[in-house]
Amino acid sequence: MPQTLIQPEFKVKIDYDKCHKCGRCVQQCGWNVYSFNERPIPDDAKCRACHRCVTYCPARCITIEKNDLAFRDNDGWGPALRKSVWRQAETGGVMLTGMGNDKPYVNIFDHLVLDACQVTNPSIDPLREPMELRTYLGRKPDAVAVEPDGKGGFRLAEELAADGWLDKNIQVDTPVIFSPMSYGSVSLNVHRSLAMAAERLGTLMNTGEGGLHADLYPYADHVIVQVASGRFGVDPEYLSRGAAVEIKVGQGAKPGIGGHLPGEKINREVSETRMIPQGTDAISPAPHHDIYSIEDLRQLIYSIKEATDYKPVGVKIAAVHNVAAIASGIVRAGADYVYLDGFRGGTGAAPQIIRDHIGLPIEIAVAVVDQRLRDEGIRHQASIVAAGSIRSSADLAKIIALGADVAAIGSAALMALGCHLCQGCHTGSCSWGLTTQKPELTRRVDPEWGAERLVNLVSAWSHELQEILGALGVNAVESLRGSRERLRAIGLDEQTCKILGVKPAGM
Ligand code: SF4
Ligand code: SF4
Ligand code: SF4
Repeated sequence: MPQTLIQPEFKVKIDYDKCHKCGRCVQQCGWNVYSFNERPIPDDAKCRACHRCVTYCPARCITIEKNDLAFRDNDGWGPALRKSVWRQAETGGVMLTGMGNDKPYVNIFDHLVLDACQVTNPSIDPLREPMELRTYLGRKPDAVAVEPDGKGGFRLAEELAADGWLDKNIQVDTPVIFSPMSYGSVSLNVHRSLAMAAERLGTLMNTGEGGLHADLYPYADHVIVQVASGRFGVDPEYLSRGAAVEIKVGQGAKPGIGGHLPGEKINREVSETRMIPQGTDAISPAPHHDIYSIEDLRQLIYSIKEATDYKPVGVKIAAVHNVAAIASGIVRAGADYVYLDGFRGGTGAAPQIIRDHIGLPIEIAVAVVDQRLRDEGIRHQASIVAAGSIRSSADLAKIIALGADVAAIGSAALMALGCHLCQGCHTGSCSWGLTTQKPELTRRVDPEWGAERLVNLVSAWSHELQEILGALGVNAVESLRGSRERLRAIGLDEQTCKILGVKPAGM
């Protein structure tokens, strides 16, 4: 019998006529695909198509091809399902994976188009006129007092800042923040890159559930510190250090389940940051053991506020079927923002079956939550952060038009640092040095280089967003928020359009 019924997914091809026999491919591959015997010899079965060796081969003589084995057609049993059955029959285990849901569900973003001004309602040129991308996360005042300005119009009767609400909001200079990714699931150099970029961009990074490494203390004004069910790294000092505190209830890639960082990733620094013993598994339970109701959540929100001199507290949830009612409860419990994570959101590790079959698209979640909060008259009491595969400035503009205040990016940020979406994050062997703690791999990310690339990415999206706003004839991103009238749907069914609050194109 063969050792396995599963054939390699990829073929590694080397043009030996061009190969310098330098051995760089052997060093670069995190998954030990290559051995070297006078020339590199690949073991196809280990290749994850991360393209690290291809990128760094000086002779450009490596190609990675899909191993397109012919399977007898069967619409019900595609090759991926067959391979999964074989693998589980061999291992008896849960199939783990990394990054986001890659199943071909309808991508709603790709079925939405934005409006533009023509003739009677002039567009704005963002190169020549002011275009405001700054926004604020947190609760806004219930009402503002206005008075006549003596010129036939009105002005604010007093400075909004005098109310004190502005002190309790977090300013972001562009409506893009970085998603929670814990130190442990990603390397410290990734965290350093994110923190430096967040500071330079005037935005925020998020610790995820792994605590805050001391190297990031200088950037704390640009860091959201997270409290998850495992309470890793949480003490009063940690809570007080960040710009805001986020209670993580759920994650889009794995709604309803906990997390597990294997002991081999818990080196000395990760263990000190998480406040757990070195080499032990870091297990986050599925629920918070002190939250079984909105009242419990309210207690935790206010305990954190009391402990931090009333810093903003957000709550992160996965987008699930009754997300609107849950979000309403969260806002009424006193949260300053609700973080909605759609089912295409990334993860360091998740059971594939959960990642691919549970949750909702972020477009639907944001639309129904924004509408529910408006209907209940509490939309101003909390901001909405949207995440779960925001891939471009177009997605960014569309999710804001559907009702989000800001978008959070995780997969795109990792891609800026080299990620090739190979989905091998759970193995801890990322060739690009991102989702690993192996020193020979983590040193591949120079934080200065990483920060520069992240700043470039977000700056590029911000410029594009300004162009989109200009085309729409609005001069501030806050004017786009919830403006579904500026969206039209192409190829979406009537019910989906109704849920999104978006008209079909042509209407
Ligand atoms: S990196 Fe390229 S040139 Fe060097 S040994 Fe590998 S295949 Fe040959
Ligand atoms: S896993 Fe990545 S680095 Fe290794 S052989 Fe495949 S493409 Fe190259
Ligand atoms: S972070 Fe690394 S392991 Fe994860 S998908 Fe990207 S390249 Fe692959």
